[in-house]
Amino acid sequence: MPRKKELISGLGAKYGGTLRKRYSRIFRTLKAARECPSCSSMKLRREASGIWKCKSCGYTVAGGAFDLSQARSR
Ligand SMILES: [Zn+2]
Repeated sequence: MPRKKELISGLGAKYGGTLRKRYSRIFRTLKAARECPSCSSMKLRREASGIWKCKSCGYTVAGGAFDLSQARSR
């Protein structure tokens, strides 16, 4: 019996459903353009989880893991 194959298919089901739906919503907010609080250009990008960096002036700011405004509203 190919036991290993069953394990892999089980892992695939783990990432399906609700998590995938949630990820697509987060992915959209990640891709959205953001205004830099320092130079007000729309080049603010997510550098790492919770870290946002402006590609224009190099300004780095800590925020939510997936959305900049998430940390403030909490
Ligand atoms: Zn900037």
